[in-house]
Amino acid sequence: MRTLQQRDKTVIWHPFTPQKNMLPPIPIVAGKDSLLFAEDGRVFIDAISSWWVTLHGHANETIAAAVYKQAQTLEQVIFAGFTHQPAVQLAEALLPLLPGSMAKVFYSDNGSTSTEVAVKMAVQYWWNKGQGKRNKLLAFNNSYHGDTFGAMSVSDRSIFTLAFADKLFEVVFIDPPTRDNIPALMHTIEAHAESLAAFIYEPLVQGAGGMKMYAADAMNDLLAFVQQQGILCIADEVMTGFGRTGRLFASGYLQSKPDIICLSKGLTGGTMALGVTACTEKTHSAFVSGDPLKTFFHGHSFTANPLACTAAFTSLQLLLQADCQKRIEAIAEKNKQLFERLQAYRGIKNIRCMGTILAFEIVQGNDGYLNNLSATITALALAKGVYLRPLGNTVYIMPPYCITDQEFDAISVVLLAILEEVLQSI
Ligand code: PMP
Repeated sequence: MRTLQQRDKTVIWHPFTPQKNMLPPIPIVAGKDSLLFAEDGRVFIDAISSWWVTLHGHANETIAAAVYKQAQTLEQVIFAGFTHQPAVQLAEALLPLLPGSMAKVFYSDNGSTSTEVAVKMAVQYWWNKGQGKRNKLLAFNNSYHGDTFGAMSVSDRSIFTLAFADKLFEVVFIDPPTRDNIPALMHTIEAHAESLAAFIYEPLVQGAGGMKMYAADAMNDLLAFVQQQGILCIADEVMTGFGRTGRLFASGYLQSKPDIICLSKGLTGGTMALGVTACTEKTHSAFVSGDPLKTFFHGHSFTANPLACTAAFTSLQLLLQADCQKRIEAIAEKNKQLFERLQAYRGIKNIRCMGTILAFEIVQGNDGYLNNLSATITALALAKGVYLRPLGNTVYIMPPYCITDQEFDAISVVLLAILEEVLQSI
């Protein structure tokens, strides 16, 4: 009989994975809380929440039960011309929790579609208002907003976008703000202000760009300036949302609130695919018109899938419970302790943490995604029972909130042991 790995090799093309000399993927047969169980009996602590999605642990029984019940009631229905309780209930619960005054939820089905929708919404907002020339986007260098064409266009030009360079639309890129560069950034923005529809940003942490963190005070000044110019602000909280940075949303640390916010990943607790693009009444009002051409002609087959909305509503209830909030605080505290211990290590730099995220760089080779330290560290960690997936030489942890203190300590021990090993060979 052919093994699952052999069958996989014949028929599957895995994401973000070079197809030559690919290591055979590890068959996972089950998950429970912070643990992943491999077919060969190995058990791994999922220290990165399976690409930053898992909040309450794998195979969460409360979410599973709610989804099961919903699946027996209504699994899917076209969302144009129909509505349903899971979609409305989720929007009602979510809107008051979102930063600023969000009024409407537009559903899609992943992080890239949530940013794609936001960009289209912002551009059409100005078109609908008769200011179609205001159609450019402002974004940060080192940003990442997804893999579809609009999302790639507003992401930094990088190895991820290289092959598509001349297919991407023009964007004004600026550095993330610091006390020192703010005047220069304002100068650039002012020069383009009249053509800028919107500014899209990952608040305080640039995820796929290497878990880069930047300070709230400089960002406050930047956002205030951007809003003064009438430019719409789009907060991409696909990664930072739902407690990751220690607050419910990273925009909670900022004074200026977005006009549009993008959510996915932790939205369903990581159990199902769902995207949300929420906007203010001001944004939505540009689409309220007797002119059919001002309709937002966008939607997906699985828009507002009832199962995914049910998972999201249930996950939100779990997230708001005092127990879960305490766990988020406990992880943040543990991160601070680990941060202190890491200070003693030579050969690493830029140690940083925010809420449940901790990251640093190993000083070897070039900084960036193609640094093959990533594969080395993943292999070493797996051999010790922990799943890590560095972004090049950027090592980070972002565990599910259900992680126990013992499991967190086990990750720390493994991480430090790996560092000893790797740094010795440098
Ligand atoms: N925005 C941000 C900030 C992200 O981190 C990601 C995914 N890493 C995306 C958008 C795209 O999400 P998805 O992978 O679900 O398309």
